[in-house]
Amino acid sequence: DPTTSLFLYDRSLKVAPGGVHSPVRASKSVGGEPIFFRFAEGAYLESVEGKRYVDFCQSFGPNILGHRDPDVSVEVGKIISRVWTLGTCEPYSLELAEWIQAKVPWAEKVRFVCSGTEAVMSALRVARAATGRTQIVKFEGCYHGHVDSMLVKAGSGLAGEGASDSAGVPAEIAATTLVAPLDNEEELERIFKRAGSEVAAVIIEPLPANFGLLVQREEFLRKVVTVAREYGALVIFDEVISGFRVALGGMAERLGVRPDLVTFGKVLGGGFPVGCYAGRKDLMDLVAPSGPVYQAGTLSAHPVAVVAGLSTLKKVE
Ligand SMILES: *Cc1c(COP(=O)(O)O)cnc(C)c1O
Repeated sequence: DPTTSLFLYDRSLKVAPGGVHSPVRASKSVGGEPIFFRFAEGAYLESVEGKRYVDFCQSFGPNILGHRDPDVSVEVGKIISRVWTLGTCEPYSLELAEWIQAKVPWAEKVRFVCSGTEAVMSALRVARAATGRTQIVKFEGCYHGHVDSMLVKAGSGLAGEGASDSAGVPAEIAATTLVAPLDNEEELERIFKRAGSEVAAVIIEPLPANFGLLVQREEFLRKVVTVAREYGALVIFDEVISGFRVALGGMAERLGVRPDLVTFGKVLGGGFPVGCYAGRKDLMDLVAPSGPVYQAGTLSAHPVAVVAGLSTLKKVE
């Protein structure tokens, strides 16, 4: 039957690796064949077979108001009838940037990109440029997108030594990332004692949510910040999933911590592709064209996405 999920999956296997465009969609970890959905509204999905499902996934985070929120939908309709992509300056992303700046005081300046991965990749580049150092400390179990240097797991040798967690990531790149366990102050100190003077930044999901919801002790999170600062490393909060969700200002607001740089995504685009990195003005001013750190994007700050994002965030507020 050409209208069944199974049939479509069969066709997909012939055109895409594993039949999907992001690995989790293959449903390997839950078993069975993937279901194909053709319609979504609020809390519900409808499969191509016409079966209705309650959607607890909501596209892995972006749809904080559910699918196609009616108020956001009106704004999206309006902007689509006016502009799609311009590749020029426009007022729409300005509105969203000002909103973020007003609600997230440590986001002194903002740069929009198209995904969380891009936001992380760019924030790391800024941190390396600002400090003149190479190493990044990340934590086991935290996901930061698929940039090479973050596809690294704990190695078996020296404290913190990282090993590639994906084929195609050169050992030389994996070696620029140190991996620390979560919830372990002593190990973190050991890593910094050994390599602290080479660490550009510590990056953490302050609410690790990609490997189970690993809520951290506040003392541990504070320790991460203190140790980083003691050694002159920057603190990057990856709030791609926690941002605008646990509080408007994310976990940083909950903790009363000012990260040097922060990354957002998911909710930020209200169901369309937007991410951003933001933070201290002196750091963000290192980014081109005001500074020497190159970063660009054909579809960055896409008008439809930033409008969807802003109307979503206003409603969340
Ligand atoms: C989803 C996620 C990313 C990656 O974002 P993409 O838009 O999928 O590239 C990075 N960091 C965290 C914490 C995330 O949850």
